[in-house]
Amino acid sequence: MADSSRVLVLNSGSSSLKFALLDPHSGEQYLSGIGEALGGPEPLLTWKSPGQKHSRQLDSGAAHGVVIDLLVRDLLAGSQPAAGNLIAVGHRVVHGGEQFAHSVVIDQKVIDAIAECAALAPLHNPPGLLGIHAAINAFPEIPQVAVFDTAFHQTLPRHAYLYALPYALYRDQRIRRYGMHGSSHRFVCERAAELLRKPLRELNIISAHLGNGASVTAVRNGQSVDTSMGLTPMEGLVMGTRCGDIDPGLLLHLGDALGFSLEKISSLLNRESGLLGISQLSNDCRELESAAADGHEGAKLALEIFCYRLAKYIAAYTVPLQRVDAVVFTGGIGENSIFVREQVLHQLRHLGFHVDAKHNESIRFGAEGRITAADSAVALVIPTNEEWVIARDAAALVRPGE
Ligand code: ADP
Repeated sequence: MADSSRVLVLNSGSSSLKFALLDPHSGEQYLSGIGEALGGPEPLLTWKSPGQKHSRQLDSGAAHGVVIDLLVRDLLAGSQPAAGNLIAVGHRVVHGGEQFAHSVVIDQKVIDAIAECAALAPLHNPPGLLGIHAAINAFPEIPQVAVFDTAFHQTLPRHAYLYALPYALYRDQRIRRYGMHGSSHRFVCERAAELLRKPLRELNIISAHLGNGASVTAVRNGQSVDTSMGLTPMEGLVMGTRCGDIDPGLLLHLGDALGFSLEKISSLLNRESGLLGISQLSNDCRELESAAADGHEGAKLALEIFCYRLAKYIAAYTVPLQRVDAVVFTGGIGENSIFVREQVLHQLRHLGFHVDAKHNESIRFGAEGRITAADSAVALVIPTNEEWVIARDAAALVRPGE
């Protein structure tokens, strides 16, 4: 008999709330959507149920609570199957600090701990808490579960997570590398184990999550041992609008020599850099690829730097792994960009990677599989599914053994 358990997954940003209602066992989604521009003059709610897309303009100033109220009143009530089968609400929480190496059922102690971690993620944790409070109000009887982006990386050894800064900054302020995108890296890692028919505890992979934010993770024996994001999601790869690795001396130069305020530096590094900053055209990889094909020099340069940085990171992560079972591409760019995958693997040819052009061209838009030749080191494309990870964790915590 089909299981009728459903989990509602919520992912709250500062002005957005993404939601999905899914079967935690099969991953099938019954409803998904997003409230955007929340708190602003023209908030918009869009959602889809199988076969149907809808949108609704919300009242000016409507925030997370309004979206959740609508979810409860209209969307869940009207969706098949109804909310009666809802067993948990799963929340994506960006920063769990060192306190959370696993997902947890939310109680007051957990809420306090997430609030404490907000000092490390001031842009991300407060909206997460907004979503949690709104969901507790709407579903007081249903268990709420927090799933942390940082949790998968809590297995990093200290030589990978410590910065070479005065040790007191770690001891007293918990300043260290935490890493993000943990649910995505974990998902593709578990799926890679299935595809390669290897037990997870023996699997060594390098997973590249390439979306608007991007990070690469070294997984040894099924555990994260290094990752490119750090204290914040700014470290590491070139991203849509974030710079990734830079010389920290550059910040001093911007402040001292050029008189930039901290606010201006923050906006420059977070919102005006990366693919957008280099290309002076767009943060969108697809758009850059088509502009580069038409000869746009900025687009070509942005893609060149993006691919070089990624190839360099992948090569670096052969150090902690020594043996690499597969490189895995995921996220919007990793799942779809023939160009990026080809460029990156070409730069890794000394490690035995040779792209199979036909497979690289055909495995996209949700398909999964191997994109390297039969005699090559293995590179896989695996579409990520963070909602399913969250739903699975939530179900496992509230209905253990099912
Ligand atoms: P987010 O991090 O916001 O979830 P996504 O994982 O959806 O982002 O990834 C968005 C990125 O994926 C964008 O840069 C987009 O251009 C890129 N992308 C999506 N489809 C393609 C494609 N067909 N070819 C190249 N890049 C693509």
